[in-house]
Amino acid sequence: METHYPWDRLLWAVPEEEPNTISPMAAVEGRAALLLQPGEDAVIETVVVDDPGPNEVRVRITASGVCHTDLTVKNLRGNGMAFPIVLGHEGAGIVDAVGEGVTHLKPGDPVVIAYRAPCEQCPACRRGDPRRCYMALRPGPRVHRKADGALCSQVLRCGTFADYTVVHAKAAIKMPEAMPLDKACLIACGVVTGVGACMNTTPVWPGARVAVIGCGGVGLSVIQGARLAHARQIIAVDVNPVKLQWARDFGATDVVDARDGDPVAAVRALTEDGWDGGVEF
Ligand SMILES: [Zn+2]
Ligand SMILES: [Zn+2]
Repeated sequence: METHYPWDRLLWAVPEEEPNTISPMAAVEGRAALLLQPGEDAVIETVVVDDPGPNEVRVRITASGVCHTDLTVKNLRGNGMAFPIVLGHEGAGIVDAVGEGVTHLKPGDPVVIAYRAPCEQCPACRRGDPRRCYMALRPGPRVHRKADGALCSQVLRCGTFADYTVVHAKAAIKMPEAMPLDKACLIACGVVTGVGACMNTTPVWPGARVAVIGCGGVGLSVIQGARLAHARQIIAVDVNPVKLQWARDFGATDVVDARDGDPVAAVRALTEDGWDGGVEF
């Protein structure tokens, strides 16, 4: 039997979307991967995430990459942060609520979370070197463990191993609607680290010959950065044939399997007189 839905009434009932409307907010609950004590494994617990404050946004995390820095935080017994600590700093998701003063984002926007939003005030920012900002913008205290209300620290001001987080609005970078967020989240750390190595840390010039030693997520991003910088030759070095194939797919012009003899000699043989720059990850 054919069913007749009242589509016209449903459509009528949907309010027209207005940009930058601050919707009524309320704290939300979700899961988070927490470090509770130095030396202990992470546990999944329920946290309460408050409304975003002024110039903050709350993000419903849909994907988060895994990076060694989170393990470093654990191995360094919190690295100076107060426990409990929400792990994760390579996240992407959907803006859930925006705080007062936020005009460039609205609920529903897809975003990648940048772990270091430059303050634009410290000496590094003022000399035009925001990647060395040492007063990166951070949110207020918004994440609490539900069990006892304890305030949670957020790794690198992010805390993305969670259903929800609150970050500074400048740390939420709007993404194109069509970009899959499980890919976009990798931009938040691995991609900017690798591409940034070629753009900022050791600028690669057009025509340069670059050797990339280690072709994991960051190394593959170095290859992409070298390609964007118009390197003439990009030599990927690894011990894993699968990663060497990925390196070719990402733009390496030559590959060296370091298990097949002396990799330095192999790179020299490919370049005749040696490479112009090497990047090791
Ligand atoms: Zn990272
Ligand atoms: Zn700064």
